[in-house]
Amino acid sequence: MKPGPPIPQRRPQRSSLTAKQAVLTLSIALLLSIIAGAIELALDARKMRQEVQSQTQHRLDLIHGTAAEAAFQLNPELATQVVEGLFGDGSVAHVVIRDDFGRSMALREREVAPGSNWLAHALFGDILHYQETLIYDLGAASPTEPVGDIEMSLALDRLARDFMNRSLLIFSLGVFKALAIAGMLVVVFHAFITRPLLQVHGAIIETNPSQPGRWRKPNLAHHGDDELGHLVESLDELLHAFQRGLDQRDQLHQISTIDGLTGIANRRHFDTFLEAAWQRARRSGRPLSVIFLDIDRFKDFNDHYGHVAGDDTLRAIAGALAGVVTRSTDLVARYGGEEFVCVLPDTDLEGARLVAQHIRDAIRALAIPHACSDHTDQVTASLGVASTVPAASGITCEQLLEQADSQLYRAKHQGRDRVAWEV
Ligand code: GH3
Ligand code: MG
Ligand code: MG
Repeated sequence: MKPGPPIPQRRPQRSSLTAKQAVLTLSIALLLSIIAGAIELALDARKMRQEVQSQTQHRLDLIHGTAAEAAFQLNPELATQVVEGLFGDGSVAHVVIRDDFGRSMALREREVAPGSNWLAHALFGDILHYQETLIYDLGAASPTEPVGDIEMSLALDRLARDFMNRSLLIFSLGVFKALAIAGMLVVVFHAFITRPLLQVHGAIIETNPSQPGRWRKPNLAHHGDDELGHLVESLDELLHAFQRGLDQRDQLHQISTIDGLTGIANRRHFDTFLEAAWQRARRSGRPLSVIFLDIDRFKDFNDHYGHVAGDDTLRAIAGALAGVVTRSTDLVARYGGEEFVCVLPDTDLEGARLVAQHIRDAIRALAIPHACSDHTDQVTASLGVASTVPAASGITCEQLLEQADSQLYRAKHQGRDRVAWEV
């Protein structure tokens, strides 16, 4: 598998969904509570007017008898007591009891504190003044007669203050209710939407892009059949489809770089690998070696044992090569036919020669019989070694290969089953 791109780091979070939702919910809640509060205040003002009117009427009814008696008896003390009684609680600004001739018997008034606003005027201006004729009941035998009158004005500042207190209470209760509901909504939204989304986000962030199919699929409780559950399922399908695509790409890459018969690198891979190794060696000033290998008398082997046995032998020799050249930076490839090549970065001629000897020995150790060989009775190979320091030698990559190739044929001419190198 090819190494994937680096896993992206989690970006620092600049804004949070929960915070945005909280601000939005609280703003809407505040707006709604202001609108609802205004409606509630209007209704409450109407209720308060009715209460004020009925309470005032009730108070007047209560003192009517006594006030009428005071007027009938022309008793200013009693009239004053009645007036004081009405005046006492501070809700009255002006009260007067007059006798039948319109003369004031008892009067009490006070300055209304300034600052009663236009709203109080608008709401209560028309229910401030009350005037009643005092009727004295002399008993069943005599007819009832008017004996004077009582006039009373309510204190607007007191009404305004009462109304303000009630308004404040209604308003703050409304705002508190709205904030409490908004707060609960924020918590529910966070638990039900934001947290699962963060789980999905976290799982995606942690996923290795080169292995999307192995993502940690979140298990969202209570979201099996809703949009969030579907989102996770769709993501899962998408990531697995990506994974299949990547697997196919890797397979294709493998097919295009691996030799089908032997399972080691093919010629195409060798070409790109050698080019890259050459460039690296040129930059680092390190040596680079190449070993060419050709099986001896392989045509005769095929003719004698057949191509199937020939293929088995090619596989066995590829295995022997891979068993000797194990360094991760090295490459063993099938160059073509019954020829193999090894690329050994960071290896000088002496090191490469030793590797070649080991390969020769490993092939001999396979002990594959070869009845038609002219120099031995088992399969052998000839090897040519070339080494250079690309940064210093001034030769090209192709020239290095030619050197290894010519050493290989030197080994052939010297009698096969041997390693040859440039001296
Ligand atoms: P030499 O010692 O000079 O190398 O003799 P040789 O017979 O090996 O020489 P040559 O290169 O002429 O022969 C190569 C033979 O390798 C030809 C063919 O029969 C065989 N060969 C090439 N590729 C394959 C393959 O994929 N499978 C099999 N079974 N044989 C192959
Ligand atoms: Mg050959
Ligand atoms: Mg050969």
